[in-house]
Amino acid sequence: MQLKGKSAIVTGSTSGIGLGIAQALAAQGANIMLNGFGTAEEIEAAKVAVKTKAHPEAVILYSNADMTKASDIEAMVNDAKAGFGAVDIVVNNAGVQHTALVEEFPVAKWDMLLALLLSAAFHTTRLTVADMKTRKWGRIVNIASVHGLVASTMKSAYVSAKHGVVGLTKVVALETAGTGVTCNAICPGWVLTPLVQKQIDALAAKEQLSNEDAKAKLLGEKQPTKAFATPEEIGEFVLFLCSEGAQQITGAALTMDGGWSAQ
Ligand code: NAD
Repeated sequence: MQLKGKSAIVTGSTSGIGLGIAQALAAQGANIMLNGFGTAEEIEAAKVAVKTKAHPEAVILYSNADMTKASDIEAMVNDAKAGFGAVDIVVNNAGVQHTALVEEFPVAKWDMLLALLLSAAFHTTRLTVADMKTRKWGRIVNIASVHGLVASTMKSAYVSAKHGVVGLTKVVALETAGTGVTCNAICPGWVLTPLVQKQIDALAAKEQLSNEDAKAKLLGEKQPTKAFATPEEIGEFVLFLCSEGAQQITGAALTMDGGWSAQ
């Protein structure tokens, strides 16, 4: 029980990567503040999935905070502090994608993606890091993307925000260096989640491909291993960053991209 007695906020944990991370942290005994959208059934299913993995003493809470809204984020952090006593681990993961050429990119979508993918991490960090420094232990893990390091067409908002998150990660790492707090970014390539399935569906419809052929095409274009990473694997990576062995890893943008960014 590596994380017994520690408490974590995992944003966007009703689905995909965030749910995998929440399950991994709960399995090591951490209290978890779940967050994210979905139907009542989907949210309940996520809670059950995490509780099933969790240590019996772990407290599992849920916040419906809209991570594009600073006031909602503040309320969620306050709820976590009240419920757990402290916040030791923050995983900034909530995200969406929107694809369009830059000249056609809807302004409202740009604003929403920047708020969700970049500003949200600023808010959760500014609201938790001082307490982490006081307690001399903390872990901030930003789920960026290989798109925090390299670009693709049609993803101007996403790529800009993810590069921004990598920059924020570096600044927070420098400001917390030597305090017992670390801040790192994980940069996955393709992970098969609902966010990516939508892109597979769009490719399949556009090029009249089967689901399997569209998956193979998507992987073949960018990811040399030609295999998806899994939410479970990313959960394991977060656990390692939360371990004492990772104390000297800070300010890093760590890829988990099947070789995508090596090309
Ligand atoms: P997903 O669609 O499965 O999950 C996204 C989560 O974010 C859900 O819980 C959703 O409810 C939540 N969310 C969306 N908008 C929100 C809002 N305004 N407020 C609060 N929660 C909100 O997607 P995923 O693939 O698991 O993506 C998770 C993160 O991983 C994202 O930041 C994404 O950019 C990043 N990422 C994904 C991949 C991939 O291939 N899937 C690759 C690299 C990075």
